[in-house]
Amino acid sequence: MSVNLPPDLPENIFQTVFEKSPGSLLVKADSPLFTILAASDAYLVITASNRDTIVGKGFFEVFPEDESKFGEDVNARNVFTKVIESRQKIDVPTYRFDVYDPIAKNYEIKYWSCSNTPILDESNKVAYILNTVVDITGEVKAKEGAIESEHRLRLATEAAALAIWDLNLLDLSFIYSPRLSEILGHSPESGITLSEIRNQVNADDMQNIVLKAFHESLITGKYLYEVRIYWPDGSLHWVKTQGVVLQDEKRQPVRLLGTILDITETKRDEIRKNDFIAMASHELKTPLTSIKAYIQLLAQKMASSNDNVIINMLSKANQQVNKMTDLIHGFLDLSKLEPGKLQLKMQDFDINQVINDTIIETKTTSTGHIVKFEEQGPIIIKADKEKIEQVVNNFLSNAIKYSDKGSKILVSVKKTDGDLQVAVADEGIGIKAKEQGKIFQRFYRVENTRMKNISGFGIGLYLSSEIIQRHKGKIWVESKEGEGSTFYFSLPLQV
Ligand code: ADP
Repeated sequence: MSVNLPPDLPENIFQTVFEKSPGSLLVKADSPLFTILAASDAYLVITASNRDTIVGKGFFEVFPEDESKFGEDVNARNVFTKVIESRQKIDVPTYRFDVYDPIAKNYEIKYWSCSNTPILDESNKVAYILNTVVDITGEVKAKEGAIESEHRLRLATEAAALAIWDLNLLDLSFIYSPRLSEILGHSPESGITLSEIRNQVNADDMQNIVLKAFHESLITGKYLYEVRIYWPDGSLHWVKTQGVVLQDEKRQPVRLLGTILDITETKRDEIRKNDFIAMASHELKTPLTSIKAYIQLLAQKMASSNDNVIINMLSKANQQVNKMTDLIHGFLDLSKLEPGKLQLKMQDFDINQVINDTIIETKTTSTGHIVKFEEQGPIIIKADKEKIEQVVNNFLSNAIKYSDKGSKILVSVKKTDGDLQVAVADEGIGIKAKEQGKIFQRFYRVENTRMKNISGFGIGLYLSSEIIQRHKGKIWVESKEGEGSTFYFSLPLQV
């Protein structure tokens, strides 16, 4: 094939094109010398060499062979020889050739990708080899960095005994670390499928926790839950899983990523502690009931006498016994909060009646506060009456406990789009904004000088919030330190 060149094309155009091309070197196939015939500007820069001093010299005179690489595929002499023998282009995707930096006076680590193309003569023999090189140091270093950080992440997760998993929601492909099999009671080498995992999760937890968390995670973008699982040997274990949902550009969920931790030991400790609390509270209940009965009998006997000091003392003793009974009931309830243990007994009732009863009850044990109830017409709800009574009682007794005698407490109830809302407002010590989110946690009590003389264990609001949450309702507080607090709960009217 002949090419007609435009007449005004300079004679040395091909030389210019070659010299301006990226990293190219042309060598003669005159093994063992491999004479350099031409080098591009870029090649000279890359190799820190000079055209006049390299053209006409043997390739290995200019670039001495790395003796440590003799016999390896990346060795240039081997590659050139193979190109001549095979008459095929040979690529060396990555090799290291450090370049001397005359300013810094040291060798800089450099990685190259190189290809060697044979150029044949009329008799189909390799006459020249076109050697082109591309600097890929940046890419190699980035890859090394990624491998290094992956390695570090793996060490960290292994140290924390965490398993990692990655579920593709589009094709359900599932990638996980070997620790996952161990956490689920299999050997680390044995694989595990999604359906095997699903079958190991306690059926109730699957329904009430996993599926719920999954649907919520599609909205919130993250999930965190604890579930019971059964190992293949039938033993019961607990795992905590936490992770994120990744979305595509159309905001469709595409991947679930997360970690799983075995929390069996912590859970067993918690259960032992709860069992102890349950047992101790239960044992305390019996003698306390007797003490209460004796106090009431004595009070009846003394009622006809005129000894007001003793009557007063018996009334105080009765109040303290009631206080202690409430505390013990609180501990008993606390120990019943294990999954599946707090059963709701749903029934229809009027919330106004529950509030009125609770107010009457608390008024008998406390004096001095002005409790007002803004009653509306009857509002029938379907809920666990006893438990809702417990929440109202907790709000009311806290309002009394944390405000001065003589101050006002206002209880109100209203319907707001599909919900029932109950509020108990006091003019008491109030709660700092930063404490407001914490008071619903188990055993949390605000610490300040005014709290010092007020007894409590910090479980009332925790229990209340558990009860309300299990009714699918909401619980919250609005408060200003020194001015008072209003505690609210709302329940869906339609269950
Ligand atoms: P307890 O009252 O036994 O400490 P709770 O769980 O009922 O436990 O309340 C947790 C904490 O919240 C209390 O210790 C108190 O610091 C704060 N708190 C609750 N109700 C009120 C209120 N009405 N006014 C001010 N602080 C309150």
